[in-house]
Amino acid sequence: MNAPASTVVRGACPHDCPDTCALLTTVENGRATKVQGNPAHALTDGVLCTKVARYTERTYHPERVLTPLKRSGPKGAGQFTPITWDEALGEIASRLQAIAARDPQAILPYSYAGTMGLVQGESISARFFHRLGASLLDRTICASAGAEALTQTLGNKVGMRVEHFAESKLIVIWGSNSIGSNLHFWRLAQEAKRRGAKLVCIDPRQSETADKCHEHIALLPGTDAALALALMHELIVHGWLDQDYIDRYTLGWDALRERALQWPPERAAQVCGVSASQIRSLARDWGSTKPAAIRLNYGMQRVRGGGNAVRAIACLPALTGAWRHRAGGLLMSNSGHFPVRRAALQRPDLLGERRPRTVNMSTIGDDLLREASPEFGPKIEALIVYNSNPVAVAPHSGRVVQGFQREDLFTVVLEHFLTDTADHADIVLPATTQLEHWDIHTSYGHTDVLLNRPAIAPVGQACTNTEIFRQLAARMGFDEPCFAESDEQLCRSAIGDAQDFEVLLEHGFASLPLPDAPFAEGGFPTPSGRCEFFSQRLADQGLDGLPDHLPNHEAIGSDARYPLAMISPPARNFLNSSFVNVQSLRDIEAEPVLEIHPQDAAARGIADGAPVAVFNDRGRYVCTARVSARARPGVVNGLGIWWRKLGLNGTNVNELTHQKLTDLGRAPSFYDCLVQVART
Ligand code: SF4
Repeated sequence: MNAPASTVVRGACPHDCPDTCALLTTVENGRATKVQGNPAHALTDGVLCTKVARYTERTYHPERVLTPLKRSGPKGAGQFTPITWDEALGEIASRLQAIAARDPQAILPYSYAGTMGLVQGESISARFFHRLGASLLDRTICASAGAEALTQTLGNKVGMRVEHFAESKLIVIWGSNSIGSNLHFWRLAQEAKRRGAKLVCIDPRQSETADKCHEHIALLPGTDAALALALMHELIVHGWLDQDYIDRYTLGWDALRERALQWPPERAAQVCGVSASQIRSLARDWGSTKPAAIRLNYGMQRVRGGGNAVRAIACLPALTGAWRHRAGGLLMSNSGHFPVRRAALQRPDLLGERRPRTVNMSTIGDDLLREASPEFGPKIEALIVYNSNPVAVAPHSGRVVQGFQREDLFTVVLEHFLTDTADHADIVLPATTQLEHWDIHTSYGHTDVLLNRPAIAPVGQACTNTEIFRQLAARMGFDEPCFAESDEQLCRSAIGDAQDFEVLLEHGFASLPLPDAPFAEGGFPTPSGRCEFFSQRLADQGLDGLPDHLPNHEAIGSDARYPLAMISPPARNFLNSSFVNVQSLRDIEAEPVLEIHPQDAAARGIADGAPVAVFNDRGRYVCTARVSARARPGVVNGLGIWWRKLGLNGTNVNELTHQKLTDLGRAPSFYDCLVQVART
């Protein structure tokens, strides 16, 4: 018997994870049988996380949406009838045309990082909405506070090259459970540890990563800036500064010095809920170890003062001259290093003279419920959702659900599955997975470009996002040549001449040509060319030009009814709301869980494994208590993000979060949330 025809196709992981792994998909007789890490890509090193190692299970999932669907029941009930593509596109085009004739701003696209690919993310879709004149979307839900803070301090979303962490002697893992959400960085940290490096984890939760670090600082959520300022205080009073680096390559030192001197460790210890000796010890380590590096991640910026906190932390490497070494400095995001040609991909010029309003995706709950007004503009009449599951992931989901249930809202969802959001659609369109389309990827955790080739034909009647918007454009009469560009052409033009596309075709990835230590001699991409402790741009907006500690919107102790702070970090086997419906992964997670410290559990008579209600004025979430020292006293960890319909009472942790925004970047403050917990 002949062996089946087998090929291996190079690709890239599409998920919202800093590692952006290089994939190898084995295809036998037209069917993907295995997805593995590409051993030739140094960072991936042949290893994938458990989630994406199961990508074929997701692609061939029995519940995959394989045809267009039209709603046949109440909104949210998930009742649909299959229809043809012709019927689906015809209805969408005629509904959008009717709304656009009144005011195209009543149409809102809603998309985020369901794929990180530049082509299936925002290319033809953006061209379509620009040509239409639809409302613009402020894509803030995950990272914009930190992104704005990095930009105000370092000049862009730039930092160390991740591979050099393997040579660091001190690694501070700040606001990240790297084992769960940055696995390939963790492998480098482990290598550094084997070579004698000290690892310190800063996180309210005693995560799996904290377990394996030498030290864990379990600060209260939203107090990171206070900790960073106290570290500066200690660097100053002990003289652990690189004054030459400060003088040459920073801006605003005198003012920052004055502010930091107001933060002795005892003051910060009170605010952060940690001991002053822990702060002193970390300051000594940071001030006396070379090379020393910080891996900062996005969890800690999901609080009112998240932007200021990132600014304060991003000042620390310049104070000690850590940037002088290639294994020193800080990495939060490297996405600013990539020369992406966004305007060429997204064509904002198609707007012409029109300047549509911008809607913040983080306040979608309130905004869907707003009437027309001079301040807001027209009521939202149509919502086109792709690469996102807002009913599960947007804050204050009670409001979000109420908005999605509006009978007068026309909702289209491009999806792989009937998610909580798709259940509310009028029309669901079956989208391709990463194995079925072209795409090109940058990364926010490393500095390589990756090409994703389609490994298999689309499953069922699934269609690429790009082709769906091409078809819609044609039906709306948009005949600009840019709608005819193929996906391969889009991949080629996304980064222009910055990478040789033939290299990407042959190897699947290529590294950016970057210096080993990008800021060893300053050269920050700020207006001053320096690391800006003081930001004139922020001062010009009427904001504090220096970083400071801002208490949470919902600070512990501010409401006696809700004495516990809740954070909602991702469950290890889910990635935001992706993979929750992959049975083998859900089996590992078992059920929605709230980690609660033994003291807090005992005070409420809560036993391990008991069902509990977590509640505040916004809602009530039922889940299972895990009584564990992974939660610090006073803080509970609601691991997310479960699909509401797969949870215990049709809700998830976002039933409790609110829509108040961060200090910078207009982002949600998911981890700035007070609750009470009780036995059910
Ligand atoms: S989710 Fe992250 S670790 Fe997992 S395969 Fe994708 S990029 Fe790699």
